[in-house]
Amino acid sequence: MTGIETITDIGSLRARLDAGRASGRRVGFVPTMGYLHAGHGSLIESSAAADDLTVVSIFVNPLQFAAGEDLDSYPSDLPSDLALAEAAGADVVFHPSVDEMYPRAVVTSVSVAGLSERLEGASRPTHFAGVATVVAKLFAIVGPCRAYFGEKDFQQLAVIRRMTDDLSIPVEVVGCPIVREADGLARSSRNVYLSAVERAAAPVFHRALVAGRDAIRAGERSPEAVEAVMAGVLATEPLVQPDYTVVVDAENLQRPDTVTGDLRLLVAGRLGRPRLLDNLGVTV
Ligand code: AMP
Repeated sequence: MTGIETITDIGSLRARLDAGRASGRRVGFVPTMGYLHAGHGSLIESSAAADDLTVVSIFVNPLQFAAGEDLDSYPSDLPSDLALAEAAGADVVFHPSVDEMYPRAVVTSVSVAGLSERLEGASRPTHFAGVATVVAKLFAIVGPCRAYFGEKDFQQLAVIRRMTDDLSIPVEVVGCPIVREADGLARSSRNVYLSAVERAAAPVFHRALVAGRDAIRAGERSPEAVEAVMAGVLATEPLVQPDYTVVVDAENLQRPDTVTGDLRLLVAGRLGRPRLLDNLGVTV
């Protein structure tokens, strides 16, 4: 049995966090969709180290799933999530129902133009509006805090940073490094969908990124050439259906004319059932 405090309604969470802030405690917030793993754990640990009161939300947000995606089968294991959150140093888990979050049809949408349409947005056109809307709502519920997001979802982090800044939301967004398995595969709740054969193939995404970074370190300055190197590595794995392999500016996510500055290499593709995403930073 876990002893962590769980709250399921918005009013109680607000009251709890307002009381914490009133007594001088800094609030840290880690939004998740549950089925927690070591990647989520690292976000919670970062918050527990820097803040006085760490709240983890677990909410599978219907707004960010399109028809035909895995909303209904998204993996969940609440007892294990509560144990992991507590062990990582969380104080409170906020676990609202869909009815609590969306008691009626949601007609308000937060969209972050320019950052949302490409890359993940190209195959999931409504995804980032769903993410930005729920995160804006969660920020309004949680109130002033530091909020921790993984670089694993690099475009999501850019969208949330921009939304928070544009709307002057009193939240400090903190990006945290990607947690990987020993063979390089980025941890993801959706890795559970991989068969044994697919799981064995999955580190190819990380290998593609490392090959792209190595090419840059060896002096390659053409973004197209770096992208071709990454695509070439992904193509060695016949089970992977690649979506994109790109070099972008880490801030605006646009492709630079030449390989220079603070850059991000991003790869995505389908491997069996799940889409897998990964990325790596390179500064030139
Ligand atoms: P999710 O539950 O997949 O929506 O993820 C919740 C948060 O955990 C997001 O900010 C993700 O970017 C972050 N996250 C997921 N996987 C990892 C990982 N492998 N390393 C670091 N952060 C992660």
